[in-house]
Amino acid sequence: MRNAMSSAVAGQATPVLALENVSKIYGDTIKVKAVDRLSLQVGVGEFVAVMGPSGSGKSTALNLASGIIAPTSGTVRVGGRDLAQMSEPQAAAFRRDSLGFVFQDFNLVDTLTIQENIMLPLMLRREDPDQMRRRSRTIAERLGIEQVLDNRIYEVSGGQAQRAAIARAIIHGPELLLADEPTGNLDSASAEEVMSVFSALNEQAGVATVVVTHDARTASWCRRVVFIKDGSVYSELYREDSQRAFYDEILNVLKLIGGGAR
Ligand code: ADP
Repeated sequence: MRNAMSSAVAGQATPVLALENVSKIYGDTIKVKAVDRLSLQVGVGEFVAVMGPSGSGKSTALNLASGIIAPTSGTVRVGGRDLAQMSEPQAAAFRRDSLGFVFQDFNLVDTLTIQENIMLPLMLRREDPDQMRRRSRTIAERLGIEQVLDNRIYEVSGGQAQRAAIARAIIHGPELLLADEPTGNLDSASAEEVMSVFSALNEQAGVATVVVTHDARTASWCRRVVFIKDGSVYSELYREDSQRAFYDEILNVLKLIGGGAR
């Protein structure tokens, strides 16, 4: 599994994620081309937002990146590995070990405490309980939720719940963190809180992160925004220094393509 560098172009780091000319057609009789010759690379340590109008193929692209669905044509590589070349058990192990997922509705288990939720990926690996507790506490401290570790989901704020979901997504040290509308269920203060956590993780730990969002404020935390329209890349923006100026630039592109800026 660790032969990622073998496909690297000499002198260039292998991208963490590479969608190469990928198309996805749903349906047998009525066909929907959800993704259309999409090419997208995410490098080591990148922090990328994917935006675009509803139905433009963002979720499909994310599901292709995680190997949950297979492309109709084209190649999807994570760390240089072609997902289509993996057996189902290899693909399951790859998703468990190499990816972290964050969802709009948190996907936390409400019968467990916040700490148990964060430890879940390690529990599935049957790691040492003391070590799991230590690691979950360290991550919780980093994400500012150590004071709610013993609470249940209904006892914490949306921002705290999503930070717990992020802690759970990174506790096993994934090479790629994928987030689908992670601020979609949050008020604006909690959304800022959550995005600052993604941003700090990216800056300090260099976790390559892809955030699908329709919220320009959320996207403005990222270093690059990829706009998708009709299943392929419409344009891209790179952030200079000012988040405020980046936000305005994002709004301008959204005005052109639509995309539900808030
Ligand atoms: P977005 O995330 O940008 O809203 P999606 O990737 O969800 O876009 O959808 C892209 C297109 O593919 C839409 O036309 C949608 O209706 C269609 N689509 C998505 N999932 C399926 C599916 N499982 N079966 C059939 N069509 C689908």
